[in-house]
Amino acid sequence: MRIDIVTLFPAMVEPALATSMLGRARARGLVDIRVVNLRDYATGKHRVTDDYQFGGGGGMVLKPEPIAAAVEALRGERSRVILMDPRGRTLTQAVAGELAREAHLILVAGRYEGVDERVSEMIADERLSIGDYVLTGGELPALVVTDAVARLLPGVLGGEGAAERESFAAGVLEPPQYTRPEEFRGARVPEVLLSGDHARVARWRREQALWLTWRRRPELLAAASLTDEERRLIEQFERGEAPAAPARTERDEGHGRDSHR
Ligand code: SAM
Repeated sequence: MRIDIVTLFPAMVEPALATSMLGRARARGLVDIRVVNLRDYATGKHRVTDDYQFGGGGGMVLKPEPIAAAVEALRGERSRVILMDPRGRTLTQAVAGELAREAHLILVAGRYEGVDERVSEMIADERLSIGDYVLTGGELPALVVTDAVARLLPGVLGGEGAAERESFAAGVLEPPQYTRPEEFRGARVPEVLLSGDHARVARWRREQALWLTWRRRPELLAAASLTDEERRLIEQFERGEAPAAPARTERDEGHGRDSHR
């Protein structure tokens, strides 16, 4: 898969792409990520990329011509052009999964007060938001999309199937995880995880995943695919019955839903 990030600030994006999992995935040729400087596609002596907005109002807006030129130079037959935009469809794990099946993404990062609306209407195939808040530019959103998508590609994460076990993949949150030491400041790792009994561990993990999701993100359960037994478990939570061997410390003792999740 190839991902192009079109930005006025390549220096903001490049270090993140060279580091850790993304850096390794690129070095191993598992994903081809390129950073494209929007200014290279601006014309004129000063290579201007932004201008005042018609109708008044403070702040500059990115001009359409350099973005159109950049996208037209990059676009192939199987490209999907995505404008980073707080007014767009919200990125979720399901959207990341959908994008990971594409051959080529072109992510356009806006700046200043935003982007001339004709880019959204005439050049982008869609608009994507990373959440209901406004950042100073689309570089971090483009990196968020790149990271969420790239880690779903075959071979990028260490263990195969690792992404399927994570939060949101199966419609529920991931259960608690522990490493050494077995005891930390009086809190012991749940005994079941040390038992070596794989069936018990799997049952415990599923129960904990449901418990955490019920407490913190109950709305996810409506769309999760649950067995009859799992539904009965949720009914127990509703009645105030916590799981038998919960991984709870003293700071997290409540049996009800988290008030601020
Ligand atoms: N004036 C715009 C508005 O109110 O919708 C916000 C412009 S923002 C300051 C500048 C650029 O940052 C946007 O064009 C977009 O590319 C990017 N951006 C900011 N927040 C974002 C978000 N939550 N998701 C995706 N992109 C975002």
